[in-house]
Amino acid sequence: MDKEKIAYHIREILVTLGEDPDREGLRETPERVARMYEEMFRGIAYTNAEIAEKYAKTFDEEDMCTAKQGNFVVVSDIPIFSFCEHHMALMYNMKVSVIYRPVDKIIGLSKIARIAEMVSHRLQLQERIGTDIAEIMTLSTGSNDVGVLIEGEHSCMTARGIKKPGAKTITTAFKGAFESNDSLRREALLLLGKLE
Ligand SMILES: [Zn+2]
Repeated sequence: MDKEKIAYHIREILVTLGEDPDREGLRETPERVARMYEEMFRGIAYTNAEIAEKYAKTFDEEDMCTAKQGNFVVVSDIPIFSFCEHHMALMYNMKVSVIYRPVDKIIGLSKIARIAEMVSHRLQLQERIGTDIAEIMTLSTGSNDVGVLIEGEHSCMTARGIKKPGAKTITTAFKGAFESNDSLRREALLLLGKLE
């Protein structure tokens, strides 16, 4: 990422807003923002396939006593934040829950959290964070039966425009049997805590 170029353009934005970029509080802001962007948007440099490769340290199923064929693995409430691609505004208080049905490989639970973090460090839509995670889960585990449920708040909705503080957006991305089989999807939503 070209941090110098980003800093240059942030400075231009400050000038255009009518600010004095040389005043005390702003003097180092362009460089600070550039460093923050480097961290916040580091997922842009990787494709889903590359992320799958990076985190696909999978175990053979016999090593894991928890994952019998046909059982589900559920990871709930992974905290993430992201930036919406329409406003470059913060999406916050986000929680990602993932369910999948292992075929022959399972993936370390901490790796699922890393995958969620990596795809959220891009300019995103909440829906696409879900489909990206589902795709990477399939690539790294070989299982097509994956569900992702995300809830979150979008500052472009809560702090500007229609200003609805507390408004939560919930999105789901179901693949494979979770998409085609209504009762499996219902069971997934139960396990993900979204149905009574
Ligand atoms: Zn937005």
